[in-house]
Amino acid sequence: MNLSIVIPLLNESESLPELHDWLLRVFTLNKLTYEIIFIDDGSTDTSWDTITKLGEKDPNVKGIKFRRNYGKSAALNIGFAAAQGDVIITMDADLQDSPEEIPKLYKTITEESYDLISGWKKKRYDNTLTKNIPSKLFNRAAQSMSGIKLHDFNCGLKAYRREVVKNIEVYGEMHRYIPVIAKWAGFTRIGEQIVEHKARKYGTTKFGIERFVNGFLDLLTIFFMGKFGKRPMHFFGVMGTLSFFVGSFSTFWLIYEKVFMYTEHSRTLVEKPSFYIALTMLIIGVILFIAGFLGELISRTGGDRNAYNISERIGFE
Ligand code: UDP
Ligand code: MG
Repeated sequence: MNLSIVIPLLNESESLPELHDWLLRVFTLNKLTYEIIFIDDGSTDTSWDTITKLGEKDPNVKGIKFRRNYGKSAALNIGFAAAQGDVIITMDADLQDSPEEIPKLYKTITEESYDLISGWKKKRYDNTLTKNIPSKLFNRAAQSMSGIKLHDFNCGLKAYRREVVKNIEVYGEMHRYIPVIAKWAGFTRIGEQIVEHKARKYGTTKFGIERFVNGFLDLLTIFFMGKFGKRPMHFFGVMGTLSFFVGSFSTFWLIYEKVFMYTEHSRTLVEKPSFYIALTMLIIGVILFIAGFLGELISRTGGDRNAYNISERIGFE
């Protein structure tokens, strides 16, 4: 099978038949074999009925329904696990992503052996103030923190080599950073394709302005997990040691002053700023050190402590 189309959706009933028709037209024209996997992320409208009907018409349509809303990341993750095609395409269900882009995405992955091609909505049809401008800032930050040169990390339309989706896990709201997760897993051939974007035809957006707060926090998580996730002591230990060192130095200075420079005009200990600096720094140092140590214990017992993935072997049965 050439293609698996993974489509997460939440209350997009009106768009689905149109999307399915359009996909079919593109695949017939380009002679591509396919499966379409709809993941109903706990819709409360008639989305699931629509998917069932599409499945009766077209045996290549598959569906998974969550009992409640788990979020786009969870939907993508289960879609990835189920996908069987050589190339996996993810796209939004709301007709904002155009199926016409798929043949070219497929070609780039198969012929130029890319691991991942991300769509780039160069011309966007969303609200300028709440989406387009914050999105630019967000992508800048993601670029500089991850070292991946993409203009549009969060584009719903992306293409993956099968091996990539079988070796990554998308959880929480990390769907915004799949290229970063892929890069960690060792898939570094990441490219970009300018894709057509349309205004939403039916329904409403599921992500409001809070996406940027959450997105930014997730970016910090991604950054720290990538750098120190497996060796927390290297972060907390360094900070803690530095802090403890400053605190100790101040303490010794205070003792020195008290012993050798004491006059009857000297301020008492509690009147000196360095006393408070010493106190705070020592406490912070110990706390950071404990945080690092606990982090090490957790990562030592964590289920993914040796989650390396092997791409090839020789000489083994
Ligand atoms: N979506 C989902 N679960 C959610 C939120 C969104 O499966 O909890 C789907 C949604 O139905 C759509 C895609 O994710 O197919 C992108 O969402 P949306 O179009 O609302 O985002 P926007 O285009 O406004 O960024
Ligand atoms: Mg949309």
